[in-house]
Amino acid sequence: MKTWNKRTKAVHSGIRRSQYGEVSEAIYMTQGFVYNSAEDAEARFIESGPDEFIYARYGNPTVAMFEDRIAALEGTEDAFACASGMAAVNGALTSLLKAGDHVVSARALFGSCLYVLEEVLTRFGVEVTFVDGANLDEWQAAMRPDTKAVFFESVANPTLQVVDITSVSKLAHAVGALVVVDNVFATPVFSNAAENGADVIVYSATKHIDGQGRALGGVVLGTKEFIRGTLEPYMKHTGGSMSPFTAWLLLKGLETMDLRVRAQADSALEIATALQGSNKLEQVIYPGLTNHPHYDLAMAQTGSGGTVLSIDAGSQEAAFKILNALEIITISNNLGDAKSIATHPATTTHQRLPDDQKIALGITPGLIRISVGLEDVSDLINELNGAITAL
Ligand SMILES: *Cc1c(COP(=O)(O)O)cnc(C)c1O
Repeated sequence: MKTWNKRTKAVHSGIRRSQYGEVSEAIYMTQGFVYNSAEDAEARFIESGPDEFIYARYGNPTVAMFEDRIAALEGTEDAFACASGMAAVNGALTSLLKAGDHVVSARALFGSCLYVLEEVLTRFGVEVTFVDGANLDEWQAAMRPDTKAVFFESVANPTLQVVDITSVSKLAHAVGALVVVDNVFATPVFSNAAENGADVIVYSATKHIDGQGRALGGVVLGTKEFIRGTLEPYMKHTGGSMSPFTAWLLLKGLETMDLRVRAQADSALEIATALQGSNKLEQVIYPGLTNHPHYDLAMAQTGSGGTVLSIDAGSQEAAFKILNALEIITISNNLGDAKSIATHPATTTHQRLPDDQKIALGITPGLIRISVGLEDVSDLINELNGAITAL
């Protein structure tokens, strides 16, 4: 199995067939499991084997198939499936940290991630230092002997700043800190996060893994020691586990993810290239464009600019005009979906941030984030060109 390439693993890894030999993975929609005897129950609570389950919050065969498949794809020893991306981020950090620990985090974060670091962890006595994720000197200066973890989005939402996983990991490992990476924008298709030094990799499976807007899910990947020794006890007792039905949707999502994500990334590059010259836009931001400040890093780290681009229309008024002129591209706030989606971060996903912080992070009033879907790319380009030239 180790010799299989990612696309083969995405279809076949982790499968557990029942006595009926079904082709498609079975949905084990059960909360509990029956024991043959009282002694059996006792033994299973002391130590459960790989195909012995106790309670769906602890583990379930459909969920285990998803965990094994995504771990095989990512190249980590193990994985734990969570109810949402945020259950995964919160679980990865909270299970690891205790009062008195220090964390260094990139400042440019998804709003809910920022809440966990800024509001939740600090309330329990964890000290957090925020740095500019692209500035290695700031990372270096922030590291301390008591730094237990570093956290960042490998590609930040929605400004598409790319963080150098290899260099930050070296700095973190030098003080003995674990590197926890939110890898949503890189996607499991283009990820080399484990090879680059990340110890713990987190995905919101709601995004590219489902890719069809059906379910919330998340996953934490890492060593067996971290996943089963540190994370699992916390997750299984605090309730953030994944539902078997969600795991089944995501298993089906993984089978087509490579095709979808590559097609979406190809279209994103075509759109970014087509819009780049427009004199009505202040900026087209896409890590796959050679003029992006982190183009070389993005290519070395993932080999792709990803499925999301951002454009700056100059003002909120112009941004709203563009959004309201769109027909195919829907106004919503998911990403990685088969349907193209446009978001105005300043008034929606990042509304909560004070204005000065928005500007510091590059979340300008004219910024529109576009998650590119699976539609015909010429339709998308025509629609965006039409909306932009009408300004
Ligand atoms: C969406 C997202 C999350 C949260 O995932 P949910 O599944 O919505 O809980 C975390 N980090 C990033 C970068 C995201 O885009």
